[in-house]
Amino acid sequence: AHQVHIIGGGMAGSEAAWQLARRGVHVRLSEMRGGGDTTAAHNSDGLAELVCSNSFRSDDHEKNAVGLLHHEMRGCDSLLMAAAEKARVPAGSALAVDREVFSAAVEEALAAQPTLEIVRERVDVLPSDGLTIVATGPLTAPALASSIGAATGADSLAFFDAIAPIVYRDSIDMDVAWMASRWDKGAEASIALGGDGRDYINCPMTREQYENFHAELIAGEKTEFKEWEANTPYFDACMPVEVMAARGIETLRYGPMKPVGLDNPHWATPEHPNGRWPYAVVQLRQDNKLGTLWNMVGFQTKLKHAEQVRVFRTIPGLENAEFARLGGLHRNTFLNSPTLLDRQLRLKSAPHIRFAGQITGCEGYVESASVGMLAGLMTAAQIAGRDWTPPPRTTALGALLSHITGDAEAETYQPMNVNFGLFPPLHGVKKKARKEAYTERGKADMAGWLATLG
Ligand code: FAD
Repeated sequence: AHQVHIIGGGMAGSEAAWQLARRGVHVRLSEMRGGGDTTAAHNSDGLAELVCSNSFRSDDHEKNAVGLLHHEMRGCDSLLMAAAEKARVPAGSALAVDREVFSAAVEEALAAQPTLEIVRERVDVLPSDGLTIVATGPLTAPALASSIGAATGADSLAFFDAIAPIVYRDSIDMDVAWMASRWDKGAEASIALGGDGRDYINCPMTREQYENFHAELIAGEKTEFKEWEANTPYFDACMPVEVMAARGIETLRYGPMKPVGLDNPHWATPEHPNGRWPYAVVQLRQDNKLGTLWNMVGFQTKLKHAEQVRVFRTIPGLENAEFARLGGLHRNTFLNSPTLLDRQLRLKSAPHIRFAGQITGCEGYVESASVGMLAGLMTAAQIAGRDWTPPPRTTALGALLSHITGDAEAETYQPMNVNFGLFPPLHGVKKKARKEAYTERGKADMAGWLATLG
């Protein structure tokens, strides 16, 4: 009999299974591919199949957050990192792999684990008891998705993401932008949360700037939906900004770019000492508790990434914006983890169930695998009766886990890559030296934590 049931043998489920099995825990790993089912993106029956690019992104652990995550995972004896090493192909400073060699290496290592049983079966209902890790990914099969929806409340499970770009706070030019809430409303709520009543960063536009921007949005090169994503119903709350723009020149000015109630103090004159309303405004809202990341309100988009950078940098105040994440819209099953999960990835309403991988709202192969790794380590600690010490928030693992399990803003929760904006900010370090400072601090703090793993 198994001690842990893992559902989904993708990036997260494979890594979780490895971490448990190598500690002698009996695991049943249920993977529906190879049992007569598949997803719209997978092409094989292999465990840990990479569905698109063959890259784990930057391997630079001195200057890059995902590179640091690689480094930390290697420190935890990650199977996926070891398999990536075996399957590595030349790609400059990136870690890229031969996807078939990679998947085969994962499968071979797992198959050799005496306490692990790999079963090719689809699971349709959340188990009502027994330690469980759900790692069914962005394309979770529909029956299980309904079962998850029933357990979490339908509003807490999304089937599409609608990602607006996120900007690093310290790359916004506040000599042009300014802080304010529309009509100065909501001051009380803001103060209760530690704000000062001016909650949004506002980027002002003149009429000419707005008209140029509008034209750029419409002309900008877009990515197409995949065939199986077509006929996406656009919910009002997640209509791409360029689709809204195409409805008419004024649509955005009556929607997310509405300028009313926003006096721009940079435009104050003797007759208007508080400033004047711009012709249009782009608003940014705080995205994490640390205050380092700000999302562009209403700017979910299918524009190509390079186009987003080019077009959004024409917004006054964002000329030098650095993006922690660019916008997108995809089919993606994910939970509102900050409200549903505890700090150990357990469903608060059914704590025998942990979630792992992209379904928790992290984004990317490496992030998904790392959250699977953490879920495995947490479950192993629980079975061994050891206290779980979370990785320090100054590490990439800790920063990502903290974000998912409570530090992200629940109301606007959307999938997130690992990035330095998730780390507690380092003040007093010059911008040029900051990335190295983050990784050095993370590595120093990681060493102590590794000793707690057992
Ligand atoms: P998966 O790797 O998808 O694993 C989930 C597994 O669960 C699958 O094997 C599936 O067959 C199985 N499963 C689902 N439902 C059930 C069920 N009911 N019972 C049993 N098994 C089930 N990230 C990147 O970093 N780079 C990219 O280029 C990239 N491209 C992507 C392209 C597409 C089309 C999609 C959808 C996602 C992409 N991602 C990419 C995002 C993401 O990182 C990957 O999807 C990643 O594989 C997620 O890992 P996971 O373990 O959470 O899910």
